[in-house]
Amino acid sequence: MTRHDPTFAFDNSYARELDGLFVPWQGAAVPQPRMLRFNRALAAELGLDAAALDGDAGAAIFAGSVSPDGAAPLAMAYAGHQFGGFSPQLGDGRALLVGEVIDRHGRRRDIHLKGSGQTPFSRGGDGKAVLGPVLREYLVGEAMHALGVPTTRALAAVTTGEEVRRDGMKPGAVLARVAASHLRVGTFQFFAVRDDPDKLRRLADYAIARHHPDLAGRDDRYLALLTRVRDAQAALVAQWMLVGFVHGVMNTDNMTISGETIDYGPCAFLDAYDPGAVFSSIDQFGRYAYANQPAIAQWNLARFAETLLGLIDGADRERAVRLASEAVNAFPQIYREAWLVRLRGKFGLAEARDGDAALADGLFQAMEGQGVDFTKLFRALATAVRGDAAPARALFADPVAGFDAWLARYRARFAEEAMPADARAAAMDAVNPLYIPRNHLVEEALEAALAGDMAPFDRLLAAVTDPYRPRPGLERHAEPAPADFGPYTTFCGT
Ligand code: AMP
Ligand code: MG
Repeated sequence: MTRHDPTFAFDNSYARELDGLFVPWQGAAVPQPRMLRFNRALAAELGLDAAALDGDAGAAIFAGSVSPDGAAPLAMAYAGHQFGGFSPQLGDGRALLVGEVIDRHGRRRDIHLKGSGQTPFSRGGDGKAVLGPVLREYLVGEAMHALGVPTTRALAAVTTGEEVRRDGMKPGAVLARVAASHLRVGTFQFFAVRDDPDKLRRLADYAIARHHPDLAGRDDRYLALLTRVRDAQAALVAQWMLVGFVHGVMNTDNMTISGETIDYGPCAFLDAYDPGAVFSSIDQFGRYAYANQPAIAQWNLARFAETLLGLIDGADRERAVRLASEAVNAFPQIYREAWLVRLRGKFGLAEARDGDAALADGLFQAMEGQGVDFTKLFRALATAVRGDAAPARALFADPVAGFDAWLARYRARFAEEAMPADARAAAMDAVNPLYIPRNHLVEEALEAALAGDMAPFDRLLAAVTDPYRPRPGLERHAEPAPADFGPYTTFCGT
C-alpha cells in the first residue's frame, strides 16, 4: 500500500531573508475543517501529493489550523493607498504566508491562506473569510489563468465549520492560493513611510532576486526594477481591458510587484461594453471604473517609484526624481502598445500596420452606448471573417450608426494580409473566449453552493477553465445576463 504523506518541500526565502518585514504567526483553530474543492492539477504542478492533501489532512492544513512540517507561517507587513488615502499599516489581517515551494517548472511560488484568523494586523477585523467570496475568488482566479492573464491561483477552498458574522451569519471558509510572490507596492510603502532605507534596500534586492535575477548586481538595478514592474503592470492591465475585467479595488496593497492579478474581491466582468462600468458598492466615485484602470495602474506605479527614489540615487535626489518620472511617464505609451499588440490578435491580424491604433479605437467608439456584449462581439467578428456579419451586427442596438462603417474598414485591413478566412477565424477563436465568469452565473453558482449544491459551481468552473472551445450543454454559459438580472453590484470580498 502506498503511504500518502502530505509533505511540502518548503524553501521559505521570505522568512529567512526578510526578518523585520513580517510577524511569525499561526492560523486559528477551527471546529471542523472540510475540503470543499481542491485543485489537483495545480497541486501536482507544485510537486505536492494531491491525493494525500485532497481530504481531511489537507483541509486542516489549508484552514490554517495545522502547520505542516517545514512551514514558516507568517503575516506580512504592508501599507497602502486605499481609494487614494494612505494607510501606513495594513498587513495580512486575515491571511498567512504558509511557505514557498519550487514548482515543477522551477518557479518559486507562495502558498498563502486567506481567512485563517486574526493576526497582529487585523485592526479590529475578525480575521475570517466566508464561503461565497472564497468560491468567487476560486472561480475568477482560475478563469483568469485560463484566459492567459497573470494571476494568483486557487489551490483549495476549505470550509471551517464555523459561522461568521457578516450581513447575518455566513459559513466560514478559507482560500488557499498560490502566487509568484505576495510582494505588493504596499510592501515597499510600509518601509518607505517608516524611513527605513536598510530594510527597503533588502526588500528591493529580494524582489530583484526573486522576479528579475538578471538585474542583480547592476548599478541601476532599482530603476530597472521600476521599469520591469511598469512593463508587467502595463501588460496585465491591457489583458484585463481586453477580457472586460474590472478589478474593483486597485489599491496599492492590491498591486503586485510580480504583475499578477491579486485579491478578487468586488471584481466583475463586463457584459455590455461600458467604459464607465463600476460594480463595487464601495467605489462610489468610480475611481476604479473599467476605463480608469490604466490610469490607476500608472498612479499606483508612481507611488511605487516614490518608495525607490533613495535607492535609485541616494546622493542626488533631483536625478532620482528625473529618472523615476521618465519611467513612470512612459506608462501610457507602453500600456497602449501592450493593448494594441493583443488586440491585433483578437482581430486576427498577423502584421502591424500604421492605422491599426485608429482601427482599434474606431471599434471602441462604435461600441459606445450600443449595449454590445463585449465577449460575444469578438467571437462574432470571427464569424464575420468567415463571411457572416449578421451575428456581429445583431449585437449593436443600431449597427448603421458606426459599426457598419467600421466593419468595412476592418475588412479592408485584413484583406491586406494574405491568410485564408478559416485560418484567420480559427486564430481569433483561439484567443477570444466564449466562456467568462459572467456575473449572473457566478451569483447563481454561489447561491447554489451556499444551499449545498456545488453542481452549478462545477459546471461554471469547467466552462471558464476551458474558455475557447464550444461544448454542448454550455450554451447558456456563453450568453449575457437575462434582462431581469438588472444592474450588478459587488460587495467587498470579506
Ligand atoms: P482586501 O480588501 O481584502 O485587500 O483587504 C484590505 C486589508 O484589510 C488587508 O490588510 C486585509 O488583511 C484586511 N482585512 C480584510 N478583511 C479582514 C478581516 N475580516 N479581518 C481582518 N482584516 C481584514
Ligand atoms: Mg488585499
